[in-house]
Amino acid sequence: MVHHNSSTGFYPHIISKGGCMEKKNKFSLAVQIFIALILAIIVGLLMQGSADVANDYIKPFGTIFLNLIKFIVGPIVLFSIMAGVVSMKDIKKVGSIGGLTVAYYLLTTAFAITIGLVFGNIFKGAFPALSTSGLSYEAAEPVSFMDTIVNIFPNNFVKPLLDANMLQVIIMALLLGFAVILIADVSPDANERIINDINDLNNVFMRVMEMILRLSPVGVFCLLCPVVAKNGPMILGSLAMVLLTAYICYAVHAVVVYSLAVKCIAGVSPLLFFRKMSPAMMFAFSSASSVGTLPINLECVSNLGASKEVSSFVLPLGATINMDGTAIYQGVCSIFIASCYGINLTMPQMLTIVLTATLASIGTAGVPGAGMVMLAMVLQSVGLPVEGIALVAGVDRIFDMGRTVLNITGDASCAVCISHINNRKK
Ligand code: ASP
Repeated sequence: MVHHNSSTGFYPHIISKGGCMEKKNKFSLAVQIFIALILAIIVGLLMQGSADVANDYIKPFGTIFLNLIKFIVGPIVLFSIMAGVVSMKDIKKVGSIGGLTVAYYLLTTAFAITIGLVFGNIFKGAFPALSTSGLSYEAAEPVSFMDTIVNIFPNNFVKPLLDANMLQVIIMALLLGFAVILIADVSPDANERIINDINDLNNVFMRVMEMILRLSPVGVFCLLCPVVAKNGPMILGSLAMVLLTAYICYAVHAVVVYSLAVKCIAGVSPLLFFRKMSPAMMFAFSSASSVGTLPINLECVSNLGASKEVSSFVLPLGATINMDGTAIYQGVCSIFIASCYGINLTMPQMLTIVLTATLASIGTAGVPGAGMVMLAMVLQSVGLPVEGIALVAGVDRIFDMGRTVLNITGDASCAVCISHINNRKK
């Protein structure tokens, strides 16, 4: 007998169909997160004079919350992808869904970065002239394209989990999942037993995530409040134009690309899509972590009618490799940094940015701040000074909150579309 999760959700005990927590809690998790978000902004603004206090005494609790999320992310990605693969029972089906998913991800990411470059160029004139003297930034060692490919494949069974190297965890999950499917030919009993175990373990880890998520309003408050306390005046200051450009691009990409995709491919009204996605979007905004948002995202797409079979494969994959918001950010920041140094980017350079930013966003981990580290790779590819990152580093968190919202919304739109295509094929 195969145990399945409730068809209405992945962790139905925390969020029910309408995104509401069980009756015993007065407010739904989404409402709690929203209240935490507003409180964090108010308290943060009030604490502008004592940003250090917020940083020393409030932020650590946010860090505890993020640590717990990082702790559970490895097993969640491993078991949810394995559960997704074994539920398809057919390697060809995994291949066709996987192919469509990767194609959707690559296309939307290339589109995102193009939007970033176009708007970056339009708003270039309004970018502030910041001083570039005395800038220093510790750049990560550049990794060549071939090394990036080689590094996707694990050389040790436990190291991918220890290092939280999600691309390697995905390869592990795919290999193990395929093996479980293939075992059915030799031993159908063993196949069924292992599928039961995978589903059971998946449920256990989802439960742990559920416990961690109950802390999310506190986590959200403690993460956001110090950011507002530190950056309050800065938001209104010199970097506002670049931030605004990035946020306009995020909004344009979401409204144009995702609305069109869910409407044209899945026949879902864009308004309904964004409404049902709002708990996950708010959570992503406050946590700035795609992988941390994974369980809420699974729940939201399930409420949008996506099948568990597809979303438990598409979403963890997307949380690791599909980062449209990060790609936009990298495009806008490249133009901004170039213009600060008085450099005009040529067309071939822009095309190089499209290519490297697509790769960089694939390599970006779904945790806060990861996109900024990968920006170094994009800048280096077109010979821009890596120290330029210091210009945007101070407000990276604000860029990050928006780009994470876009990152997870892109994954969800893909899950809804592929699920629809998959249902039609049946
Ligand atoms: N924080 C982003 C995410 O989790 C990644 C990034 O830094 O761009 O999706």
